[in-house]
Amino acid sequence: MSELPLPPTTRTLGASGIAVSPIAWGMWRLAENGRTAADAAKLVHAALDAGITFLDTADIYGFDGSGGFGDAEALLGEVIAAEPALRDRMVLATKGGILPPLPYDQSADYLGAAVDASLRRLQVDSVDLWQIHRPDILAHPQETARVLDDAVASGKIRSLGVSNFTMAQTAALQHFLGNKLATTQPEISPLRIDCFENGELDQAMMLGLTPMAWSPLGGGRLAAPETARDKAVAAALDAVAQAQGVSRTVAAYSWLMAHPAGIVPIIGSQTPARIAEGAQALNVRWTRTDWYAVLVAARGERLP
Ligand code: NAP
Repeated sequence: MSELPLPPTTRTLGASGIAVSPIAWGMWRLAENGRTAADAAKLVHAALDAGITFLDTADIYGFDGSGGFGDAEALLGEVIAAEPALRDRMVLATKGGILPPLPYDQSADYLGAAVDASLRRLQVDSVDLWQIHRPDILAHPQETARVLDDAVASGKIRSLGVSNFTMAQTAALQHFLGNKLATTQPEISPLRIDCFENGELDQAMMLGLTPMAWSPLGGGRLAAPETARDKAVAAALDAVAQAQGVSRTVAAYSWLMAHPAGIVPIIGSQTPARIAEGAQALNVRWTRTDWYAVLVAARGERLP
């Protein structure tokens, strides 16, 4: 049975030359549950100590529908300010372009100010990756590209990415950008398999984008599957997990990492032990048979 290659111990963000761990840790849920900067520092340490050096946040994280915009960035900023040496140990990614109560804004004026505001909250001079969080249909990609290229030229941003973009939106933005896009961040998980067949990952490989998978456990659904489909996917993952002595969660991350596009799963847990456990995904081996068994369970029908 042919085995798929293990993931490398580091990946680079597109053609940027920026080396990252092949697994990221995400801070969407960081500012929940009254977490203090001391609590947040424990999570940052858990990730870094496990070799998970790629940290993903966004200016909207912490917003709860009425307030809290910027709270997750600000919390990480407090952690970095208290222990500045941490900054050099992490590859720091953030996002902007969602503005409550408006949905999206990628006008040049707004984006330029949003980048500055993120840097202020994070208490850093620059971020390693800045991503447009969701596409703004009312922004011309030429205008968006100009402000992003300016932010790279001024040293505020080291590399650029998109999230939740259609393939055409990614291509249009790249057309106008002087810099090469480094990443794309769609939702991908064993429960969300659209990207495998809709061309997004093929485009990522063609353009040399590193795909980052958001909600790699389906927002936690894989840990407690309820529907027949979710249970079938969990069972296919469990078969590999049990054979190799890892958790279903770890098997799920490694399943994504086995794809040739070099998918970087973003761990969403805010529990130190679960974050650290994610690093085990580097050692899980997949055969083609086992990999496709998960895909078939997710499709709910046999392959043609
Ligand atoms: P996820 O890994 O799919 O779900 C994480 C949730 O599952 C957490 O609440 C976690 O709770 C829970 N969970 C339950 N059992 C778990 C177990 N055994 N192991 C691990 N987690 C378990 O990821 P996500 O939080 O939805 O998203 C991950 C990251 O993707 C975010 O932090 C963010 O960086 C990014 N994201 C991006 C977008 C976008 O539009 N670009 C959208 C959503 C997310 P505990 O904390 O208690 O472990």
